Amino acid sequence: MKFVEEFRNKEIAGGLIRRIEESLRERRVSLMEVCGTHTMAIQRFGLRSLLPKSLKLLSGPGCPVCVTPNELVDLAITYAMKEAVILATFGDMAKVPGSSTSLLKAKAAGGQVQIVYSTMDAVKLAEDNPDKQVVFFGIGFETTAPTIAAAILQAEQIGLRNFFVVSAAKTIPLAMEALLQGEVRIDGFICPGHVSVIIGSNAYRRIVEAYHAPCVITGFEPLDILQAIEMLVVQIGDGRAEVENQYSRVVHEDGNAAARAVMEQVFEARDANWRGIGVIPGTGLGIRPEYARFDAQAQISVETEKTAENKLCICGLVLKGAREPTDCRLFAKRCTPENPVGACMVSGEGACAAYYKYH
Ligand code: SF4
Repeated sequence: MKFVEEFRNKEIAGGLIRRIEESLRERRVSLMEVCGTHTMAIQRFGLRSLLPKSLKLLSGPGCPVCVTPNELVDLAITYAMKEAVILATFGDMAKVPGSSTSLLKAKAAGGQVQIVYSTMDAVKLAEDNPDKQVVFFGIGFETTAPTIAAAILQAEQIGLRNFFVVSAAKTIPLAMEALLQGEVRIDGFICPGHVSVIIGSNAYRRIVEAYHAPCVITGFEPLDILQAIEMLVVQIGDGRAEVENQYSRVVHEDGNAAARAVMEQVFEARDANWRGIGVIPGTGLGIRPEYARFDAQAQISVETEKTAENKLCICGLVLKGAREPTDCRLFAKRCTPENPVGACMVSGEGACAAYYKYH
């Protein structure tokens, strides 16, 4: 198939849904779509409503904006309020409420916040403002982390002394393992397409071997997702747990070695705090000591406010599949994309935003 319409063909979709029903029989199955872009596509194309009731799709933690904890949002806000600093961030992150305010509100209160569209924009910002310290709020998974690393290498190459990064980048496979050890039953994973382009399908081998949880990598069109679901329920019915790659037009076994090499040159694995999930060992990407002069936390010390969470927001439970956005009593009432109470309502990949837009 070459054209997008072909990936939205109703007859083929109907056939896949029938095969899913046949494979499920009376079995109850819970599958997690790890990636926020999958959550958005599932909502956009109404796939939940087409699937049998005994099949549950759980939204996972694959929205980088959503999983960034309040303490790092607060840190970015504190930098933005420092006179000598310009805080550079991707747009969605600016709207995420921290403990008491957001970057967007901090900007309105006089903080220096600059929205950038790429990590290299942040490097350019530093070049254009030599009398300022430019701090880039570096969020993302394996898809974005190589571009953050590349920005640090570029800053080094051109001798920039005023470019810094708060590294909030995270990696996915160990987070999936942590979820399998949690209280939510997950029978299989719809693995993230974009992340898999970088890490490759081999990165999920440990999950199938150690946890017997089937993994299928897939794309973002309705037929991609339905076929991945069918592949998962067939595996479950057969009692198999394997890594299968529905997205072979883009994802390869070994991923993108060049992108991983850049990432590994600049970052090392550290423990990371995930909103609602807690600290997951080895899932953070900290800046290596060799590049410490670009590490904002090592170079520009600030005191942040005491972290506070909104007690009514259940974003943390949504991110681990324990609740649906509509279980939140603030959903679509006090919490909307225009006035988000929690991070999951902000991002274009957030589960609450997806449910709000297409519910
Ligand atoms: S609807 Fe808003 S308040 Fe409720 S969980 Fe989602 S982000 Fe949090």
